[in-house]
Amino acid sequence: MNESLLRRLPKIDALLATPALAECGLPRSLCRTAARQELNVLRAGIRTGQVKQLPPEEELLDRILARADRACQPQLRRVINATGVVLHTNLGRAPLSPAALNAVVQAGAGYSNLEYDLESGTRGSRQAHVQNLLCTLTGAESALAVNNNAAAVFLMLSALAQGKGVAISRGELVEIGGSFRIPEILARSGAHLVEVGTTNKTRLTDYAAVLESGEAQVLLKVHPSNFHITGFTEQATLEELAVLARTHGVPLLCDLGSAAPDRLLRTAARQADAVCFSGDKLLGGPQAGLVVGRAPLLQAMRADPLARVVRIDKLSLAALEATLLAWQNGDGPRLPVPAMLGAAPVTLQGWARALADRLAGLGPCSVVPVQGEAGGGALPGTALPSWAVSLPLEPGLEVFLRRWEPPILGRIHKKRLLLDVRTLLPGDGEDIAAALAAWRERQP
Ligand SMILES: *Cc1c(COP(=O)(O)O)cnc(C)c1O
Repeated sequence: MNESLLRRLPKIDALLATPALAECGLPRSLCRTAARQELNVLRAGIRTGQVKQLPPEEELLDRILARADRACQPQLRRVINATGVVLHTNLGRAPLSPAALNAVVQAGAGYSNLEYDLESGTRGSRQAHVQNLLCTLTGAESALAVNNNAAAVFLMLSALAQGKGVAISRGELVEIGGSFRIPEILARSGAHLVEVGTTNKTRLTDYAAVLESGEAQVLLKVHPSNFHITGFTEQATLEELAVLARTHGVPLLCDLGSAAPDRLLRTAARQADAVCFSGDKLLGGPQAGLVVGRAPLLQAMRADPLARVVRIDKLSLAALEATLLAWQNGDGPRLPVPAMLGAAPVTLQGWARALADRLAGLGPCSVVPVQGEAGGGALPGTALPSWAVSLPLEPGLEVFLRRWEPPILGRIHKKRLLLDVRTLLPGDGEDIAAALAAWRERQP
């Protein structure tokens, strides 16, 4: 370690007193933080031996100013998703429709009848705005919207299964991204986990046994989401479980994860007593958790103190209502997510060709078929054939595009950078062309 370099690092107050920082017009506290962070970076570099001499003061001040400037800009930014993963959790999942965005603006810019009944002039419920839509779309008796589907599962178990044994197949004891593990959520909700069957095979008789022995008083079925077991497997269907639940007079709960208002969801809503799913997966709306089911169960969930903890906010509610309206009016398939998922390979090939033509003057590129995926735990194991523009992976290109404004995120495959066109939005092609032109210009 180079002690003398460390000792020669400038003092923060001396840096702040320079005209460059003192007169930059940015808040002093911001400059102080930026200076401290920049000095920390230098200090760490000296300790590891990567920094062998101090930069000139002018350069150090430039770096501090750049850092302070960045801190004044929003860090949450639009990016171009050229990964082909439609429901990319790290990239914000579902892009919203213009109608949903407009609803967010309307609800956010001023006041609204969020919890006010305009007919009676008295207090209303925020759930009223989406409840009928959810019931119409699923055929369920009652419905509830909460913050996200993880919250929906938690509320469902807390309100309906606290202190009870919940039978669940060992093949469905999954982790759904992050730290959302079904066994842990179940434990936190105050329910007892009653594992039935094996990882690959769970039969109806396995469930029946724990109901008959009195170990379990609730049945839970969880969509395994982002994983897929193949080979020697068997799981009891929701339909079979529904018959079993009726026979024993116990509730059947179902976490579908990802669902669009289609026949599958209507069937699930008819078979299970309560079904929950995400707002920002196949539904194509904002982050939300939707629960539909029998009225007494939904009433118990609404009455649970946790309902207030996990309530949906007004901006999400506005976007959700607009999204559900689109589905009700038959425009669901034209929402961004269903449209991207439904784009035909021949259409995607055309888009890829058009993008390649646009980039042709900027270096070698070709159009190739690729395997995409829905993402977000939707349609696991389902191939989503797509098309991409393929660029040779020149050193530094991936980083350059990732740091472009807006950042462009593709996929690296066999020394090629693939830009999958399925997830591109209007205007993205223009930005990609501008970025590549800038990259070419930088090259010797
Ligand atoms: C995605 C998913 C969840 C979590 O939903 P969020 O809306 O992300 O909270 C829970 N269960 C299943 C089966 C899922 O696929």
